[in-house]
Amino acid sequence: KSQKINDLLKNLNKEQREAINYNSSPLLILAGVGTGKTQTLMSKYAHLISKGVQPQKILAVTFTNKAAREMEKRAESITQSALRFNWIGTFHSLSARMLGFDQVYESVELKVDYHILNQDKQRKQIRKILKDQKGTKDLFLAFEQKMFSLNQKHQYRGFKPSVPYAKMVSCIDKFKNRLLFHDDDEPKGLNEFERLVFLNVYTEYQESLISENLVDYGDLILYMVRIFRQKPEILQKYREQFEYILVDEVQDLNLLQQEWLKLIIGDNKQFTCVGDDDQMIYGFRGAGGDFILNFEQHFQNAHIIRLEQNYRSTKVILTHANNLISKNKKRKGKNLWTENNEGEPAYINEFQDVQTEIDQICRQIKVLIQKQNVPPNQIAILTRTNQEGREFEKQLVMDNTPYDLSSNKKQFLKIKEVELALYYITVLEKQYDDFAWKHILDKIPGFGKDTCKKIDECAKENKTSMFDILNNLAQNEQNQSTPTIKKASGKRKPAMPISALEKWANPKLIVSKDDSTEGSISSPKKEPQDNVRKILKVDIKLNKKQKENLSRLMKQREIFKNTQTKMLVKYLTNIGFYEHLAKNSNIKEKDPVKCQKNVQSLLEIAEAFDDIKQFVDHIALFSQEGSGSEESESKSIKLMTIHSSKGLEFDHVFLPFWVQGKMPVEFQRDRQAADIEEERRCAFVGITRARKSIHISHHQMSDNNYQTIQHRQSVFLKEI
Ligand code: ATP
Ligand code: MG
Repeated sequence: KSQKINDLLKNLNKEQREAINYNSSPLLILAGVGTGKTQTLMSKYAHLISKGVQPQKILAVTFTNKAAREMEKRAESITQSALRFNWIGTFHSLSARMLGFDQVYESVELKVDYHILNQDKQRKQIRKILKDQKGTKDLFLAFEQKMFSLNQKHQYRGFKPSVPYAKMVSCIDKFKNRLLFHDDDEPKGLNEFERLVFLNVYTEYQESLISENLVDYGDLILYMVRIFRQKPEILQKYREQFEYILVDEVQDLNLLQQEWLKLIIGDNKQFTCVGDDDQMIYGFRGAGGDFILNFEQHFQNAHIIRLEQNYRSTKVILTHANNLISKNKKRKGKNLWTENNEGEPAYINEFQDVQTEIDQICRQIKVLIQKQNVPPNQIAILTRTNQEGREFEKQLVMDNTPYDLSSNKKQFLKIKEVELALYYITVLEKQYDDFAWKHILDKIPGFGKDTCKKIDECAKENKTSMFDILNNLAQNEQNQSTPTIKKASGKRKPAMPISALEKWANPKLIVSKDDSTEGSISSPKKEPQDNVRKILKVDIKLNKKQKENLSRLMKQREIFKNTQTKMLVKYLTNIGFYEHLAKNSNIKEKDPVKCQKNVQSLLEIAEAFDDIKQFVDHIALFSQEGSGSEESESKSIKLMTIHSSKGLEFDHVFLPFWVQGKMPVEFQRDRQAADIEEERRCAFVGITRARKSIHISHHQMSDNNYQTIQHRQSVFLKEI
């Protein structure tokens, strides 16, 4: 072990080693791109572990879940044992874990098995609450109409405004990132749209989430901040627990994340942040450079270490990147250098039109893979927007070049049959997840919307979950006409046992029984609160067919609830899911074989997890982040936005569509004009992902609705 840690330290430079050994005051590693910031942070973690610090005493916040697993792996390879009870994760995953622990969610009025909404479900939720609110919808329609007229140079009569649900979702996310609660007073400085959302939607939205036991991603962090503020004993527990705190990519912390972090840090001196002000690219999401630029004001006796040697890129790439970023005025400025080779020249290509650009890039990629034996996962196409990435898909498919689209997974989870299968799987683990039940019930043969509504209402009247009512209906076979008095079968779950919790945080970990008392995050388990006879008043009459079908589902759910993920196919078969697929009218127009295949793919993902719970939690939390299985990853080129490529590196990087308006982007209609310095940082992040070569390209023309548009090349090209 000590040999390993010595090797690790030997491979670092002097400043990096200093950063690893420094623990006497708040430390900021303010360093340039590719200088080993992330490497240093991970090494510091491993070093602490190797010195005998217990994993649960180190809080490590990474930018992606992937980076979290990487950190875990490195520490494990050095200590050669599984990292137990570690607290490595993203703001979201760490908050989700804290919220679920010891039933603290109850203090924000959530109940067990709350359902986490992704963006798509957020949008549907807003649509639902505004369904009968014509007045509110009209306000937004009028706003859209006004914006359209303002921005349109020519009169276009055919325009019909639609209610901007997706935009409302982004707006609410933005409020949360700025630490604005729905019950706060209206803050100054909102624009017209934000004001409309704040006054007419935000509160209704939050209240509907609470009443339906739902949270969105922003809530995970926001609720923890609220709990930390209102329950000092909980904050104190974490402050005492975390002796060391490590945080990557702090230049992009938004106000919400900053607050979360500052609360947990308290006056802890042993914390290390790393960041680069030249890579601030999330300004639009409410991030501020304030944390990094004013670090010394925020934290007394702060120590700053600078790293200047870039280990990633060739001299050529670094020079171009430096040329570009030096045009920014708002920066601390640094002196980056590298000992790497001069390397290949930068390839700047001009094409006649978009399609030629796409074709040629795909052709060059084929050459790299086939003629030069470049591993596909060392090639990336990085675009400014998701949509631009999608334009490459068709050609890559035709060329037979495997690719990973970073937003792939999100799209996949939206497919109807996949979504439905997921709800069936969710209720195996989370019996009180009413949101999931609601999506299942009307699919049960014989059940219509009316019956579902009755069950939902009955649950509300009984102040219980739908699961209790369903169980009651399914079990009460003999005596169906009289209202029943029955012990509620679904006890409230006790707080998640620590072993399950730790295992969840660490998929590879097998925790034995007696671990449950270990570790400082253990706390006395609360007795289940309403583990008493619950008297249910159920006035719903099911016919024979309904009852049979429901009983079958409930029985199979009981049988399969604690099984392994490889049993899921059997579960879905037994409950008649595949029959439903074949018959269902929603999905009928689709090829049934394709439907089956999609579900099959989902089950394959599931099998990568030890148990169903891990799988369900993973999907709920991490569907934000893309990419498929590890195996497909190594064989595929990467297609992603520059934003999601942050922190990553590839041998060869393609940066297409560098024309004015696309890079730097110019938002249309009412979106604000892009901040040119932030766009430049974005271009800079793109270029600096490359180790060996960069291929930047642009086109002269594109087609838009049968209209040919002429383009000018990006101003950034001249600057580099
Ligand atoms: P970014 O700004 O893009 O987040 P970073 O500063 O976090 O980059 P890393 O990703 O940690 O940089 O490191 C960049 C590359 O340099 C990696 O391949 C890493 O292994 C390598 N590297 C870091 N430090 C050293 C070192 N002392 N000697 C050799 N290689 C190093
Ligand atoms: Mg990094």
